[in-house]
Amino acid sequence: MPKVLIIDDEASIRIMLSTLLEKNGYSIVTAENGAQGFNLFKTHLPDLTITDLIMPEKEGLELIREIKTLDPEAKIIAMSGGGTAQPDTYLKLAARFGAQRTFSKPINTERLLSFVQEALAQGNRI
Ligand SMILES: [Mg+2]
Repeated sequence: MPKVLIIDDEASIRIMLSTLLEKNGYSIVTAENGAQGFNLFKTHLPDLTITDLIMPEKEGLELIREIKTLDPEAKIIAMSGGGTAQPDTYLKLAARFGAQRTFSKPINTERLLSFVQEALAQGNRI
């Protein structure tokens, strides 16, 4: 069962994504900010990380950079919006930092599921 790490400071988003992905056969670990997310990444080594970009403690862009430094093959999906002044700018930066896929909130669940499937189909972790 592929393991997915979900990082978002909004509890409602964590619950929504966890429920959706568990229902579709993924095992889930969640964190509420980038610092906690990075610790969980190191201990769980998830097959895929889905992270929000604007969060307290440590923001998503910094988190993506740290994960990619630790594991250049890590698969990451970045999401933003919902109060962000310029979600597109953040999402473009996230892609430049190594996120395979990006999307803006509100979350389109079908689109997200296809992103997850695509990201995980792109070969296994080394
Ligand atoms: Mg946020």
